[in-house]
Amino acid sequence: MNVAENTVVSFNYRTTADGAEVDSSTQRGGPLTVLVGHGGIIPGLEKALLGRAAGDRFEVSIPPAEAYGERRPGLAQRVPKKYFRNPAQLRPGMMTALQNRDGGRQMVVVTKVGSSVVDVDLNHPFAGRTLDFEIEVTDVREATPEERAHGHAHGPGGHEH
Ligand SMILES: [Zn+2]
Repeated sequence: MNVAENTVVSFNYRTTADGAEVDSSTQRGGPLTVLVGHGGIIPGLEKALLGRAAGDRFEVSIPPAEAYGERRPGLAQRVPKKYFRNPAQLRPGMMTALQNRDGGRQMVVVTKVGSSVVDVDLNHPFAGRTLDFEIEVTDVREATPEERAHGHAHGPGGHEH
């Protein structure tokens, strides 16, 4: 069976940006399983998976527009340290969660740590970056009616609930 809309594909992957590994299925403990056509992964990767079958290996380079978008200017913010859970551990370049006004959490990248404030960038950490993927497709199957209704894959590597 080949990857198409409403199939469930499992794959091992290694992601690098500028030659450095930024993510991999080894890091997350096994293949990723996604329902194709429901926005579960970045558009460029989904496109590259279409038509593939179990056992296929390939490499693909995905530009920002097909990944996490371009970096947007004006998303830098200066935030008092008290809004961070772990202010003493903050270092430039690290990602951390920032509590927003609605009580939700947002991932931000720390750019500078001052004595009482922290400069952060609200762009997605991979915004503006070309991502290189090494992919190994391990399984392709038909989605169940339940998975289609939920809009995501179930089972190992997918949503567990
Ligand atoms: Zn579900």
